[in-house]
Amino acid sequence: MNAFTVDVEDYFHVAALSSAIPRDSWDKRELRVEENIERLLGILDEHSAQATFFVLGWLAERRPALVRRIADAGHEVACHGYSHQLVYTQSPREFREETLRAKSFLEDTLGHPVAGYRAASFSVTQASLWALDILIDAGFHYDSSIFPIHHDLYGLPGANPEPHRVSAPSGRTIAEFPMSAAKFFGVQVPVSGGGYFRILPYWLTRAGLRQINQRRGRPFAFYLHPWELDPGQPRIKVGAFSRFRHYTNLERCEGRLRRVLADFAFTSMHEALQQRGLLSGERSAATRQRLPLATAPLVHGRQPAG
Ligand SMILES: [Zn+2]
Repeated sequence: MNAFTVDVEDYFHVAALSSAIPRDSWDKRELRVEENIERLLGILDEHSAQATFFVLGWLAERRPALVRRIADAGHEVACHGYSHQLVYTQSPREFREETLRAKSFLEDTLGHPVAGYRAASFSVTQASLWALDILIDAGFHYDSSIFPIHHDLYGLPGANPEPHRVSAPSGRTIAEFPMSAAKFFGVQVPVSGGGYFRILPYWLTRAGLRQINQRRGRPFAFYLHPWELDPGQPRIKVGAFSRFRHYTNLERCEGRLRRVLADFAFTSMHEALQQRGLLSGERSAATRQRLPLATAPLVHGRQPAG
């Protein structure tokens, strides 16, 4: 099963537009995310697909009812940090403080622990691998912030592309579901969501996702933002490249989303990792089951007589 994921933030949180949107103006902007999430929940429900919603702490504090709404609809709520700052621009101390703030707020709102984390703009890179230790200390069970490609804002080229347990600098491990890319003519193409999903023709997306599932035999992590389903969002004046990346094909996104949901099987990221035995609790249970029967009495301290 593939993982369907949503980064829950609004159009004005996006890194590509940040040069034109001062952080202190966020509170004055029109929030459009609730309506967009509602539409997305309806579409997922039509396709009986379960998803993981990585919710930004800043937004959760202002709209706790939205966090509960997502959980009540049967989806996994996970953490998208607090401020949407790129991890490698923060000090470990800043990162720890704001990640704990976001995680505790979500957990207080939901009344249960939150297992997953995704960094703003996949910003766990070679320069910010220290963040994995902070995530382990904070009690997260998995991360989904590593993109094994070259990109101007993010990327860890050469990283393991399959879901796996990644080693933090301390040597401890955490489950990692990296973002997915397909290979066409030797070039890595991140076909699994966001701008690529809107900009590339759907037949190419589908071919890439099939390649990951069938030829490489592994699940992919699909991702989308609520504002990608919102052609009516305010247009921000930014450079041509950012404009292209943010606004291309917004009006086609909903139709494509329905196609991808019809063509592939999805579940939450927690469930997809659990199915592969990568969550630590799950793993120790599996290890216990694999113990040969003859050693079982020794485990309980009862040695057979004779
Ligand atoms: Zn984000």
